[in-house]
This record gives sequence, structure tokens and C-alpha cells, in this order.
Amino acid sequence: MILEMCYYGDPVLRKKAEPVEEITDEIRQFCADMIETMQHHSGIGLAAPQVGRLLRIFVTNFSHEDEAGEFHLSEPKVFINPVLKNPSDALVERSEGCLSIPKLYDSVVRPLSIDVEAMDLEGNLFQESCYGYQARTRMHENDHLNGVLFVDRIKGKRRTQLEPALRRIKQQYAHKRA
Ligand SMILES: [Zn+2]
Repeated sequence: MILEMCYYGDPVLRKKAEPVEEITDEIRQFCADMIETMQHHSGIGLAAPQVGRLLRIFVTNFSHEDEAGEFHLSEPKVFINPVLKNPSDALVERSEGCLSIPKLYDSVVRPLSIDVEAMDLEGNLFQESCYGYQARTRMHENDHLNGVLFVDRIKGKRRTQLEPALRRIKQQYAHKRA
């Protein structure tokens, strides 16, 4: 089932998500729905708060970027109660977008690499050492679980320049909120 998206201006995007206590059939179905929703919108990642649920879950189908800068997708992967560790000191600035902030892209500074620990749908812990744009997708989605949006990581004059576009998006999607 394709889930209803929440857009910039929706207070749910600003709240901290809660850990998943138990992986029930309902949670499994919800994760399948998140994957369907991400694919429907041609996204490379989606976090539960973006579809209105304050749970620490994100999904992504981003595999890696090759040397030519080409993005490669993988089978969709579910991250439950993810924990990010060991961000590199090295930072890199790259363009990002977000399904909750339609058609707005801007560059964000983030660590070049990071380790991710999370649970899969069987409740097994797994670990990933992520590098480059793959690391970035995990950090972007994990931010959503803490009520943080990529535009928050853009500071100063560039952020100010984004304000009119953000205001427009807020107005445009206001009818989606109760
Ligand atoms: Zn996003």
C-alpha cells in the first residue's frame, strides 16, 4: 500500500521517533509499505516520520556511487533502530533532496564515511561501513528519526536564500495536514 507522504511544515517531521519495541507482522507490513511508497515516488530513501509514524525505521535502495559518479541501486533494505557511529573527520559537500521537500535540492556538508548498526526485519543486528553517497543516504534518513531535515544543515546566507522556496512548499502542502 502506498502511504500518504508528510511534507515540509508538517509537525510530525520535527518530532523524535521512538524505538521499535518488537517486530510484529504489522511492523513488517509497514516496512513493505514504506518500500512501496519510496519506489512509487522514485526515492532512494524514506524514513517512517515522512509517512507520519514516529518509529525509528528507515528504508533505502541506494547501493553505491561508482567512480564515474553513477548511482547504483540495490534491493530495498530496512533499518530498524539504527545507530550511526564513527563519523569520519573528513567532510564532503554534496547535493541532496528529500521526498518531503519536493523539488528542492542543495548541497549539504556531511562526514565522508560512517558505520551503521541496525536491525533487519528478522530482528538480526547487522553492521555496515558506509562511504561516500551511501553514507550520506544513511545520515539523511537517520536525521529524519531525530526531527532533522537536510535544510537544517545548511547555514547562513544559503539557508536564508532557501526560505522563500521553503515557505512556498509549506503553503502548497498545507491542505495535506489536518
Ligand atoms: Zn528526506
